[in-house]
Amino acid sequence: MRVVIVGGGFGAVQFAKTLGKKLRASDGEIALFSRENHMVFHPLLADVAGASINVDAAATPLRQMLPGVVCRTERVHRINLASSEIEFEDGSGVLHRFPYDHVVIACGAESNLSIIPGMSEYAFGFKVMRDAIDLRQHIVRQMEQAEVTSDRDRRRRHLSFIVVGAGFSGVEVAGEINELVRSSTRFYRNFKKDEVTVSLVHTRDVILPEVARTLGEFARRRMEKAGVTVLLNVRAVAATQEGVQLNDGRMLEGGTIVCTIGTTPAPLVQSLEVPKDHGRIRTSADMRIEGHANAWAVGDCALILNAFDGKPSPTTGQFAERQGRQAALNLVRALRSEPTQPFRFKALGQLCSIGGYEAVAEMFGMRISGFLAWFLWRSVYLFKLPTWSRRIKVGLDWGWDVLFPRDLSFLNSDSAQRITHAYYRPGDFIHHQGEPAHVFSVIEEGEVEVLQTTEHSREPKLLAVLGKGDFFGEGALLGNRPHETSIRARTAVRLRQLGSALFSNIASTFAPFRELLSKAVLRRASDFWARLPLAKSVLENEPLASLVDPLPAQLLQKNTPLGDAIKALNDSPTGELVIVDEERRLWGTFDRGDIHQVLARIAVIPPERHTGLSRRQLSEFVPANPVSMALEDSALTAALTMMDHSVSWLPVVQSKNDPRPVGFLRGEQIVNRIAQKVAHLEGGQASQAKAG
Ligand SMILES: Cc1cc2nc3c(=O)[nH]c(=O)nc-3n(C[C@H](O)[C@H](O)[C@H](O)COP(=O)(O)OP(=O)(O)OC[C@H]3O[C@@H](n4cnc5c(N)ncnc54)[C@H](O)[C@@H]3O)c2cc1C
Repeated sequence: MRVVIVGGGFGAVQFAKTLGKKLRASDGEIALFSRENHMVFHPLLADVAGASINVDAAATPLRQMLPGVVCRTERVHRINLASSEIEFEDGSGVLHRFPYDHVVIACGAESNLSIIPGMSEYAFGFKVMRDAIDLRQHIVRQMEQAEVTSDRDRRRRHLSFIVVGAGFSGVEVAGEINELVRSSTRFYRNFKKDEVTVSLVHTRDVILPEVARTLGEFARRRMEKAGVTVLLNVRAVAATQEGVQLNDGRMLEGGTIVCTIGTTPAPLVQSLEVPKDHGRIRTSADMRIEGHANAWAVGDCALILNAFDGKPSPTTGQFAERQGRQAALNLVRALRSEPTQPFRFKALGQLCSIGGYEAVAEMFGMRISGFLAWFLWRSVYLFKLPTWSRRIKVGLDWGWDVLFPRDLSFLNSDSAQRITHAYYRPGDFIHHQGEPAHVFSVIEEGEVEVLQTTEHSREPKLLAVLGKGDFFGEGALLGNRPHETSIRARTAVRLRQLGSALFSNIASTFAPFRELLSKAVLRRASDFWARLPLAKSVLENEPLASLVDPLPAQLLQKNTPLGDAIKALNDSPTGELVIVDEERRLWGTFDRGDIHQVLARIAVIPPERHTGLSRRQLSEFVPANPVSMALEDSALTAALTMMDHSVSWLPVVQSKNDPRPVGFLRGEQIVNRIAQKVAHLEGGQASQAKAG
């Protein structure tokens, strides 16, 4: 018999431990598949970020914890419940199948920063060990940068830390950051404690909603006394390079953002076709997946009713552990053909450290706060650590932390060598004309405006609009000169950015990329319009609305079947179609030139999945976010944008803020208008000459 466990967290480990004790080696094999080779003890992540314990103290190697279990550090891609097999990828990218008699899904949940625009680009998540390590490095780097800058505003930005969400993890990490930075100011000469700001943003009127209100109030008062600014009843609506935008219009400036809210089911769970509730797998009372006798689910990925109070179990380590234990006992009962038991558990209590040797606790009906609660918090977690070696390690680290200052070393990584993400709100400047160039940017989503001021006019002129897939910054980087234009976000924009050194490296070694760049540089630098001053002035003064063709009667939808879309293209007299979303906003375009893209996408679909291809949704084959013009744009901007994209037509939307399509603009219309105006002007001059 083979039992496969997917996951390496609280639920999976407890399941494996319990089952290992109940089964003899001759009964069968227990195989545990986890993405990482260690179990992360999440309650200690804030201590890792705050440098009060070493990184390895909060992670325990699975194979050392589970001696009788076959531990495999591999990501499971798919579980086929019908054929009782898992599919995983080995290190070389080859897919393998592995049959099982019973499977236990305990793959937790993932953090989802995309619930707030800009968070995935600028905020640290706080879920996995990497997050805590990166955050710790970043905090120390911020202090080092604050030390060397003479600009007061920059120093304040480096010393401002924003934590979004005041549940357990938000409160703990805000407390640890506050403690680390304030206690370290004595080692720096250029700033003092009063320049440090740690803000905790929370949507409700009290922090720590998981514990009694009085404890939450206590925690807030103590944190405020320690210097944390607690902002209640406000919501973060966007994150930018400057900080966090709040729903009441305030902008919290800060160089460090930690987002502790937002989770999403693990991709493996998302791909499972089983009954779910809010993305969590629904189980029967004994934790088997509804409708499957040999598949079990425990922990954060499952929605398990607690027979103790009839409520769904909360997503905590305490519950995941208990579910793992009870599910393993139920599996043993099922193997012995005994009746299984429903999950039942009375929570032991809650503990939360708030920094400064203080904590709040609710244990066995008692509420404790302050130093005693902190001592209890440390004792309980020390006891709960999975092995004795970890207990001793963490105990020593904590003792060290009380006696000596926190470790301020960090590894300096060169930003010029990195690929990063960036997010900008409509109207934000990405760079200004004249600024030095640091990055090469590719637009992943949204549109930007290319603006330029000249000696004659300080009012910036809109030169072109760039959209998804377009890039900028190459001219300044290759020419080693400041930016010649400003770039401003026209809509919300997401960018992928290459640091200058990495960009130069790729540009000098990768020939097709180099060729693409030199074409762009030539196109953008050409004095094409300078040689056509008459045409330029005609287009500058021509309202775009006068050139726009009406929309075709039939608008395609994102979900229009591919077959219907191709038929519509055949029937279309112009061959230029517009795709809209559910709210009739511009979503994409479809013309004859897109057919090769459609074919390319079909080519990567395995032949056995080709059946019903024509019924598949158009959105699977056509990219979203086409570049578009707004009615308020000038005909010159449209002409420049068409040239920049080498396209012969563009969809036109109502306005920059209203992306409903109103028509489309074709290259011929522009050329016609220039020809008409030039002929008209020449005619006027000729008759004047005649009259003269
Ligand atoms: C910062 C923080 C602090 C917390 N503090 C507390 C606390 O004080 N008390 C408390 O009770 N709870 C706390 N929690 C919540 C607790 O950590 C979770 O509820 C608990 O980890 C859930 O356990 P789990 O086994 O379901 O999932 P996890 O512990 O998240 O483990 C999931 C495992 O599955 C693996 N995995 C995922 N997908 C795959 C795949 N496709 N293939 C192979 N492996 C995969 C992952 O690598 C991971 O090892 C905290 C959480 C965080 C983030």
